[in-house]
Amino acid sequence: PRRTHSGTAGQGVRSTPERDPDDMPDTDPDDRDRERPPRPRFPAGPELRGQRRPPRPVLPGGGTADDLRRRLFAIDGKPYGAYQDILGEYTFPSFRLVVDAVPPDPFAGPARLRLVVDRAATRLPLDGASSGTAAGVGVVASLRRFATEDFLARRFASAIRSAGRARHEIGPSGYVAIDAGRQEVIERSACLVTAAAVEIRFVVGLPAEGRTIRGREAARLLVDDLPRILAASVLPVDPHLDALRHHVATVEDYQALRDQLTARGLIAFITDGASLPRESGVSDLPLRGPNVVPFQSPPELRVTLSTPHSGPITGLGIPMGVTLIVGGGFHGKSTVLAALARGVYPHIPGDGRERVVTRADAVKVRAEDGRSVEEVDLTPFIGELPQKHGTRAFSTTNASGSTSQAASIIEALEAGTSLMLLDEDTTATNFMIRDARMQRLVPKELEPITPFIDQVRNLVTRGVSTIVVVGGSGDYFDVADHVIAMHEYRPEVVTGRAHQIARELPGQRVRESPPRFGPVVARAVLPESLDPQRRGRARIVARGVRSLEFGEATIELDALEQLVDPSQTRAIGDLILHALRKGYFRPHIPLVDAMSRALGDLDRDGFDAITPPGRHSGDYARPRLHELVAALNRLRGIRMTQLR
Ligand code: ADP
Ligand code: MG
Repeated sequence: PRRTHSGTAGQGVRSTPERDPDDMPDTDPDDRDRERPPRPRFPAGPELRGQRRPPRPVLPGGGTADDLRRRLFAIDGKPYGAYQDILGEYTFPSFRLVVDAVPPDPFAGPARLRLVVDRAATRLPLDGASSGTAAGVGVVASLRRFATEDFLARRFASAIRSAGRARHEIGPSGYVAIDAGRQEVIERSACLVTAAAVEIRFVVGLPAEGRTIRGREAARLLVDDLPRILAASVLPVDPHLDALRHHVATVEDYQALRDQLTARGLIAFITDGASLPRESGVSDLPLRGPNVVPFQSPPELRVTLSTPHSGPITGLGIPMGVTLIVGGGFHGKSTVLAALARGVYPHIPGDGRERVVTRADAVKVRAEDGRSVEEVDLTPFIGELPQKHGTRAFSTTNASGSTSQAASIIEALEAGTSLMLLDEDTTATNFMIRDARMQRLVPKELEPITPFIDQVRNLVTRGVSTIVVVGGSGDYFDVADHVIAMHEYRPEVVTGRAHQIARELPGQRVRESPPRFGPVVARAVLPESLDPQRRGRARIVARGVRSLEFGEATIELDALEQLVDPSQTRAIGDLILHALRKGYFRPHIPLVDAMSRALGDLDRDGFDAITPPGRHSGDYARPRLHELVAALNRLRGIRMTQLR
């Protein structure tokens, strides 16, 4: 079976001695008290460490809802440690509650629980999910399934808020939280739907006064409020059926639009009426109000695509090749490009970008001075550096703006991208362009950089398109297939004029384009260079979408703009660990293959496959291969070898 609803409490409390209390692998920086994991009630003996499923431990808890209430009343006023007594599985009239893990003290983070509901009791329509078996999961079925799971997790989250149990209102004692998604709809582990059951994974801050158990309040929370939250979200799902259908339809329409891109010779599509701007630089919520200009496609590039749920849809279709986005400052160029970068994911209804679709393998690349680079062949962009420093196998712990950008582009190609997105705001000028005067002052022989402008056509020959935002250099007119000008947030096609200007004002610059792009050399990870341990223990800590601690090393993720969910970061950390433990990294296996294999395990066996022992996998979201590989590429101290 693809995934199981184990229902056995023993599953969740299995642990290894590998992680100590300050090794919580899923800490958000703003969530300090989650840093220490719940201490397992039954520390795993050596027999639990093997591959086979551990024998089911005898739990103190378990029983009926009344048993749970009695037990909570009994420990009322006792020291926090007595909460361990509630570990176990409880049968309520229409669902099961499983208390998987309870922290040793009130400052060690939340308890981890699951609710398991019979599929029939939820009245979830049967077409809402697959049969749950590997054989039965087609693309459509699994898409529908994860859209459904995403919806149910969001419903559960909003039911938590309605019940007044949200953490931001109630504080660390007595809250319930679920790892529901944000603006994107990404396959995640907070909710599992199979033919047999719906399982919700969540956490609870167990009620306490200092270190004293508030057992009666805990009974109100676990025995009275949880069933209400469940009733308001999935049990049954009837009151939300319209919203569920809309949610699923939105995701299926997105997928259908994306599936049409390649056959139509397109790399991206933005529907008419889309709302692209965001609330602020730090918020991904849509900007609202009368000043928002809805997207309106220019007639020259207008296409009509079909959707299963909304009929034909018109919008801007960006063709393969090189597309420039030009226009005055503040006219909305970066906003369009950012929406395209996010267009690799479906969005929730109401986001404004639901029908913005970009090829699934699109990569937004930026300059990232200071990043580490390991054994990348930079020669397509960068020749010999000062002091005869070769670039055929370039490594550094501190890349410059241009070398970092060159490395990131080569790495994206190595991972198989067919679309590069670049924004002048975040690129290195000397990487993008070298103008005529500079060419004359600093001759080619003294300039190691072949600027991107001189390679962008060679990329097209390789089947790789580029969308680039340039407000500052008309030299790019020469290499562009299409030029789109943003004018007061409205796109206009100005290709003809741009080409005419290029003829009237022929640039003085000399094209330094090499005859072909050059090698993109695959690399393999040397597994002995990967050490997840810190102080003798595996330690992998996700810090939001900004960084990932892997053993002693910190991976900076700031430049990965398409890493959108902290739960993706957690999954990346554990996928790397999974690949390492499974022996997927080998000196002759391309690192992209090793990471694809790890992702394949996730897709085939679900998130439980990559969950280290002792972790409760309720807070993962699926990363793309590109972010997974990009994280590895930024791991300081990793050693790789080129496979020529
Ligand atoms: P540019 O890259 O051309 O300098 P930006 O994309 O950064 O411009 O946009 C400038 C500002 O305009 C941002 O604050 C952005 O939120 C806002 N904006 C972008 N598109 C729209 C739109 N369609 N309607 C209203 N405001 C928008
Ligand atoms: Mg900009």
